[in-house]
Amino acid sequence: MRYSEEKLRNRKSLALFSGNSIHRVRNILPQVPVPRNSQFRGVLLLTTALLSSCNSHRSSSPDRQRNATFVKVTATLDAIANSEDNVIPNAVLNRTKCLVAVPANAGQGIASCIESLNTWTRPALITFTGKRSPQSDLLLFVLGDKEAKSLRSGRLQLQSPQSISRGPLMHTRPALTDADLNFGSLAYEVHGKAIDGASVQGTVTSAESNSASPEKNDPEVRLQRSLASFFNVITPVGIILHHTAVLPTLEKVPTDKREVDSFHQAKGFDVVCFGHEYHVAYHYLILPDGDVQAGRPERCQGAHAPGYNAYLGISVAGDFSSKDNPTGARGPAVPTPRQEQALVQLCRRLREKYKFPIQRIMRHSDVSPTQCPGDRFPFVRILSEVCR
Ligand SMILES: [Zn+2]
Repeated sequence: MRYSEEKLRNRKSLALFSGNSIHRVRNILPQVPVPRNSQFRGVLLLTTALLSSCNSHRSSSPDRQRNATFVKVTATLDAIANSEDNVIPNAVLNRTKCLVAVPANAGQGIASCIESLNTWTRPALITFTGKRSPQSDLLLFVLGDKEAKSLRSGRLQLQSPQSISRGPLMHTRPALTDADLNFGSLAYEVHGKAIDGASVQGTVTSAESNSASPEKNDPEVRLQRSLASFFNVITPVGIILHHTAVLPTLEKVPTDKREVDSFHQAKGFDVVCFGHEYHVAYHYLILPDGDVQAGRPERCQGAHAPGYNAYLGISVAGDFSSKDNPTGARGPAVPTPRQEQALVQLCRRLREKYKFPIQRIMRHSDVSPTQCPGDRFPFVRILSEVCR
């Protein structure tokens, strides 16, 4: 899925809330004491009227407030996604059906729900009333079907212990269980670069229905893109090893990342991540001469093994299946010594960086019904070299 012009035109069908009229916030002039002197009073009243007219001329004020909210939420999401300590567990991101974000010192925020990979509904303005830390940005990850439905209907109550809980963090709860995620919503507060679970109680109410379709560079469109990107960012938890096999479109083993990229683009493996669109499903491709080519960035979720998208995908160019490539006529039948060496070094570096156990380095065939990376792939030797 990607953000096509057609998709932007069809935003009506993506409306988050329905049947709610737009509630505009009136401009309220500051209360100024009026002196008794009538002349001064006249000038002041005129000034007040002018100010009032000026402010109403900026009838766009609600729109500006709306855009300002979108800009603030976009900045918060981008900052968390770009942080090296993205501590919101992958499991929370994967299960999230809707996100509510309320900037610090504001009662108004946004809500959006996922439609499909890379596609979130138009962010709609919401009002949060209740208990929260006002100096921090509030993020609510809505996990429950019932809660997502309530939010879409315009009112989500976060009162009962089962409906809302403090969000767990990756460094304090590295292995989450279903019990950790068995809540309607999980709450986090963001203060500068720091993020933590939050104690929250309150109600989220829709504040508007969607207006006309936004322009291409509208803050709303940028926020929508940031939302997709945010939920495609992972903290890698392991490695899945692949061989490229023969690409059906080329009828040969690829010799370059670009060949894999076009093949995966045709297969629709696109992901929007850090503001860019990537096609290649793997994070790395290792060529027979040992050259390591980068695919999608390490912290963008992969598309190389369903259910294991928080694992880094490394593909070794070749077809190592004795069934598919018995004589080596379809390309390299075993990895070259240089490929092996490069693979071992890469696995060591990634394991050190993301600190996962050796058991989390697996073959594609260990997690999916496939022969990949082929029976001639020297898995045991590679693993023992990585451990050395
Ligand atoms: Zn594979």
